[in-house]
Amino acid sequence: MNTEKRKVYCEHCNEKVEYLIINEVKREYKNVEVNVKQNIGVCSQCGERLYISELEAVNLDRLYTKYRELTGIVSPKDIIDFREKYNISQRELVAILDWGKMTINRYERGSLPNQSQSEILKLIITNESYFREKVEDAYKAGRITEKTYNGMHLSVDESKQLSLSNFIETRLCHEPSIFNGFRKFDIERLENLIGYIASKVNCLYKTSVNKYLWYIDFSNYKNNLKSVTGLRYVRFTYGPIIEGKNYELILNLDNKFEKDVSEVNNNEITKIKSKNNYDLSLFSKSEIEIIDEVIELFKYKTATNISDLSHEERAWLETKDNELISYEYAHDLKAI
Ligand SMILES: [Zn+2]
Repeated sequence: MNTEKRKVYCEHCNEKVEYLIINEVKREYKNVEVNVKQNIGVCSQCGERLYISELEAVNLDRLYTKYRELTGIVSPKDIIDFREKYNISQRELVAILDWGKMTINRYERGSLPNQSQSEILKLIITNESYFREKVEDAYKAGRITEKTYNGMHLSVDESKQLSLSNFIETRLCHEPSIFNGFRKFDIERLENLIGYIASKVNCLYKTSVNKYLWYIDFSNYKNNLKSVTGLRYVRFTYGPIIEGKNYELILNLDNKFEKDVSEVNNNEITKIKSKNNYDLSLFSKSEIEIIDEVIELFKYKTATNISDLSHEERAWLETKDNELISYEYAHDLKAI
């Protein structure tokens, strides 16, 4: 037993009293056997329990720590470390998870997450691809900005010590099949192709890049039974896009082209500018003819016009949202 000098108010005695600290063992918490030591203040006159905030804070901390250990509930440090790794704020993390504004703030300050939120936090911490899905969902739903989204992917790279191009290759590499036009994804071809398109098209917008590539790949498949880049595409509202929205990553490559971002009425507009150092020797003569044909067809059209064209394609009409588009549909291309 300890005696403390500081006085606190006792309801029973109706006056300020000195208090003693007794030790107790808390056996159970939320149906889990915890057996943690607790320090409780009692009135030195009547022996009633008193609420001593400093003691309670220490008790709770000890209890939660033990409970977390026993149940595997995520700790504040785990969450803070995770945010630092990906360079995101508390606000950005709740936006990604679509949780209440203050949830992460409270958990980082020591509140105990419920089991289901704890499971989700553990999943995103341990399973990067699961986290990536969450981030992509949040981005598609407009809960995080493009800047946040791109910034996170880059820091993923650094932590893995992978170059961006290796990282993209790993994500997009699949065995040859009808979904990549029977070519293994070739990042060198892709970079040079985008550099070439950008050199020919005055205003090449981010979203239009997808359509140029799609039409080039599919036209080449129609003519030569092989795609040019080996990319896989999925159906998206505005037309076919590179699977998993990976064009966001691809457009961060900067060997052959660069992003030119401007802000118009609070909207970010991203144009792609060529560095004019592309290497066309990677492509066959007939591939270059097809590439030029697609560029000629689209270069004076607006992004909306191009999008509308893609909406008339069987490939788009007969594929469900977010589903991979089969190169079989190349044989029915209408625009080319
Ligand atoms: Zn008392």
